[in-house]
Amino acid sequence: MISLDTPIGAAPKISKRIIPALKRLGIATIRDLLFHFPSRYEEFPDEQAIADVAAGERATIAGVIQKIAERRTAKGLRMTEATIRDESGAINVIWFNQSFLARTLAIGDHLRLSGKVSRGLRGLSLQNPSYEKIPSSKFQIPSSHGIHTGGLVAIYPETEGITSRWLRFLIKTYLPLGSSLPDPLPPETRSRYDLPEIKEALSRIHFPESRQQAADAEHRFIFEELLLMQLRALRERSRIKQRVAPAIPFAIELIKSFVVSLPFKLTDAQRRAIWEIGRDLARSQPMNRLLEGDVGSGKTVVAAAAALLAVRAGFRVAYMAPTEILARQHYATFGKILAPFHVSVGLRTGSEKKVAGSPNILIGTHALLQKNAVMENLGLAIIDEQHRFGVAQRAALLRQKNAPHFLSMTATPIPRTLALTIYGDLDLSLLDEMPANRKPVITKIISPEKRSEAYRFIRDQVRAGQQVFVICPRIEITEKKPNAKIQPSRAYQQKLLLSEVKTVTDEYKKLSEFIFPDLRIAMLHGRMKPKEKSAAMRQFSDRGADILVSTSVVEVGVDIPNATIMMVEGAERFGLAQLHQFRGRVGRGAAQSYCFLFPTEDGPVSRRLRAVVDAKNGFELAEKDMAIRGPGDLLGDRQWGEPGLILKGITDAKLVREVREEAVALATQSPDLAQYPALASRLVALERTLHLE
Ligand code: ADP
Ligand code: MG
Repeated sequence: MISLDTPIGAAPKISKRIIPALKRLGIATIRDLLFHFPSRYEEFPDEQAIADVAAGERATIAGVIQKIAERRTAKGLRMTEATIRDESGAINVIWFNQSFLARTLAIGDHLRLSGKVSRGLRGLSLQNPSYEKIPSSKFQIPSSHGIHTGGLVAIYPETEGITSRWLRFLIKTYLPLGSSLPDPLPPETRSRYDLPEIKEALSRIHFPESRQQAADAEHRFIFEELLLMQLRALRERSRIKQRVAPAIPFAIELIKSFVVSLPFKLTDAQRRAIWEIGRDLARSQPMNRLLEGDVGSGKTVVAAAAALLAVRAGFRVAYMAPTEILARQHYATFGKILAPFHVSVGLRTGSEKKVAGSPNILIGTHALLQKNAVMENLGLAIIDEQHRFGVAQRAALLRQKNAPHFLSMTATPIPRTLALTIYGDLDLSLLDEMPANRKPVITKIISPEKRSEAYRFIRDQVRAGQQVFVICPRIEITEKKPNAKIQPSRAYQQKLLLSEVKTVTDEYKKLSEFIFPDLRIAMLHGRMKPKEKSAAMRQFSDRGADILVSTSVVEVGVDIPNATIMMVEGAERFGLAQLHQFRGRVGRGAAQSYCFLFPTEDGPVSRRLRAVVDAKNGFELAEKDMAIRGPGDLLGDRQWGEPGLILKGITDAKLVREVREEAVALATQSPDLAQYPALASRLVALERTLHLE
């Protein structure tokens, strides 16, 4: 029996040839096939008489094949030529490189065709039209019966080896199975928000009769995905709230003396965040809070204050950073600022272990979570740059015997409505204020003819005692970027790494031999051993080097206040959020800092680079980025059911609010969703994929 769960390899009508292509699209079962949605629609006009078609226009016609033959053109292309006749006249049809047509189509077949009409030496013709066979009994069939011609025709995100035509055919074949799908959306939800039923929506999203129908169907699926996301967040929240965490007293005097011991005055935003965190820690339910603040807003001290409270109450603290460089930096910072409070700090990364006994605070990378790394008496877990970590890693920390309090930190600037959706399970503290001593970083796009001037400026700065980052891009490699749903192959990752190493070493050579032979230059890339990396980093932070040439590994978190120039080569190869992160590596002290963006291509500067220059902070930039590219970057590495659909819905504040209300209403009505079994099982399936991640 064929069902929605039948693997595509076992389903009839799916030729073995196209199975690898389907797999590349993430399609493993019939269900996946039906939920592979079009990326757009091509619109063809309604059917008309052949005598009425005009050159230069798009047309849909229907008729009988009078002649069909294949030949080779002078250039060696295979060309299939046919003549189609209806009651009003005849027209030539030409297809290139589709020689199977001459075998599948025959004189006397009835066809409908949609495509562009052009005028050639032998009169009007249709070139490479979309076509389909139609029943011979009836010439005029309503447009809706066709799937390749007339009206709206679905165009799918394609991959090599499979065309939209194939997908339309397969989806049409298996669409009837969709009628057995239980609808996850409860009828009352559907009627409240006027959403079509799932089987109707499925058929309309693939084979719509109007744009409105297609849009309504898509809206329904967006609603469903957002609803699941909200329900998941609500469930996660209530699960966490049911667990017991150690109540850590808010030792106000301790915090006061910590604040006084710092070499700077905290911003009001930092004080507020420490206050919010302190109140959370004092409860016996686990805190689950996100500290969000632009690069350089000073998240680390806030985390240190929280850690201090936990340690003073007799608990241990785990602090996870996404890179070794960052872990080592935090290790140094914590050691310094917590020294007056007799707190022991340890470091554990993949390559390094500075742990004597059981330190109060253990700082590290993912290695912290590896086997048997369960920490006794863990009271607080801190995750820095949390968008860099997967849900599974967070879950692993939460799996500790006793639930710790949880503090995540991010510099990804997300407007509040968006945060409610993306991080619906977290409480939010915002650092919306920069330390007072900061001067905004001066950002410039440097055209090729200004390059030597920029180099002169850099030399002057170095002579004045400042330091410089130089970031090199990855070079595009020819292999196609792997589908987002599929892990890039090891080979692909390896190639990327090699290309990075090459650009960094080339740049290093160029700068040290030709441009700045008189300056001290260090280099950092992914092929170096951890020891070499940390030596290079130390050399730079101890001012033993003037310039650090690096890959994007220094993108997040690195804090070297004496560095005042950030040079980005091949700037347009980086995302806006990434460029903003790079810029955040400078301007961390009181000195004026600069960010120089060097485009690779000569030509008009892209809107994106302009946006980086113009945006004063991460929020502004995020808004611009969203306008230019959609909210893709903001989702970071958080995995979602259907990212494509979610991305379309997530910026619609009204929709997000509606969905949130609906999720709360459903969860209140039936806390474990027992009343809504189809919805509950979708949620279970979603949670399972998130955990497998
Ligand atoms: P981020 O939020 O990007 O993680 P950091 O915590 O690394 O930022 O802080 C950036 C720099 O600003 C550090 O050198 C830190 O010591 C300094 N800093 C933090 N808070 C303040 C403040 N209130 N006033 C002045 N400097 C501060
Ligand atoms: Mg940081």
